[in-house]
Amino acid sequence: MLRNPSFDIGMHFPNKSQFKEAVIHYGCKLGRKIWFKKNDKNRVRAACEEGCPFVIYASRIDESPTLVIKTMNLEHDCSVDQKLFWMNSTFMAQKYSNELRADPDWSVKGFTAAIQRDFGLEPSSQQIYRARKKACTLNKYDFVD
Ligand SMILES: [Zn+2]
Repeated sequence: MLRNPSFDIGMHFPNKSQFKEAVIHYGCKLGRKIWFKKNDKNRVRAACEEGCPFVIYASRIDESPTLVIKTMNLEHDCSVDQKLFWMNSTFMAQKYSNELRADPDWSVKGFTAAIQRDFGLEPSSQQIYRARKKACTLNKYDFVD
């Protein structure tokens, strides 16, 4: 797992989803609203709020699924958003699907602690419940409260 993702020009990622996960994780950790401005088969461009210079652009090498960072600017001119508005339940359900699968009774407290540990931010219990419910659908079983 990428706990402290950092980026460099020329850095390789095995595939697009791993690159995107690293970017999402990075944005989450910093409380920034990173979004994917361009996202197609061959390239991904991640940007921040309008006016913020932050950008990471990666594209595929030849026909392989490998993505390489071509351009980036990790400087931010925006404000930190503690509300985690985009750190939604789908992301959390996917991010922690292994833990949730291994332990369907994973408590809200345990889930919250993991998010605090990984991102240094506190999700609302509503977000946690929604994430568990979503993971439950993904994993096809019910959680017991
Ligand atoms: Zn920014």
